[in-house]
Amino acid sequence: MRVAALVLAAGRGERLGASIPKAFLALAGRPLVVRAIEALAARPEVERIVPVLPAADLARFAALAPDFLGADKLGAPVAGGAERQDSMRAGLAALPDGVELVAVHDAARPLVRPEDVGRVIAAAARTGAALLAVPVRDTLKRVRDGRVAGTLPRAECWAAQTPQVFRLELLREALAKAEAEGFRGTDDAQLVERLGAPVEVVEGDPANLKITWPEDVALAEAIWSRAHGAWPSGSSGVAHGAWPSGSSGVAHGARPSGSSGERG
Ligand code: C5P
Repeated sequence: MRVAALVLAAGRGERLGASIPKAFLALAGRPLVVRAIEALAARPEVERIVPVLPAADLARFAALAPDFLGADKLGAPVAGGAERQDSMRAGLAALPDGVELVAVHDAARPLVRPEDVGRVIAAAARTGAALLAVPVRDTLKRVRDGRVAGTLPRAECWAAQTPQVFRLELLREALAKAEAEGFRGTDDAQLVERLGAPVEVVEGDPANLKITWPEDVALAEAIWSRAHGAWPSGSSGVAHGAWPSGSSGVAHGARPSGSSGERG
């Protein structure tokens, strides 16, 4: 099956409070959006990756070294919209003809393991729709006006991640229905669920976190270094704080030389 991916990076990242757009924050020396693209590009079955960026940042993205891993699969960046769903629609419109499966991924999840990307693609190739998710650790409460309005059964609660992978025609149909009905989802699977179509859950990795709050950046750096080993400090221009010192193997400089970006 022909597989393409969208990397959604058009959010403003307001909760992060950074001075630069979230997609360009460095993780171990390289922008989040580049890390996310590299994780997808490491999968041989992904033939094209379309990055979706804020309109104001398209030039900034184009100015990134075009030789990062996966650049050979990279489509022209497209401008996103006001909400995530608008950005997803813009990305879908830029996919090449003949694509059968589309993996929609948040640039804010640069730590996804390529092997998990492969597992969720394989599940969607079988079933039409699949997502990565992890069982929640906490008991989830529904809260209204500062009061508990209900408790969700924890054994049934999973936290949805990305990539979420769909047969392209199914996702297009789901998006058309949602838009006709004025529905806005916080993830893509919700739109497909509303069609009544089954969505398979593939257990992912809790470390595939979505960088949302300022403290998530340091956490992501720590996870990265644990998986990849230390990388020379001073190459990224970001402040490190408590940086795990020279843990293991591979040194990742500003430009990792490994071919896949896959974790060891
Ligand atoms: O909004 P949320 O934090 O769930 O964003 C998840 C991903 O969607 C991020 O990678 C963000 O850049 C992207 N996004 C987007 N366009 C928007 C809003 C969010 O591409 N308008």
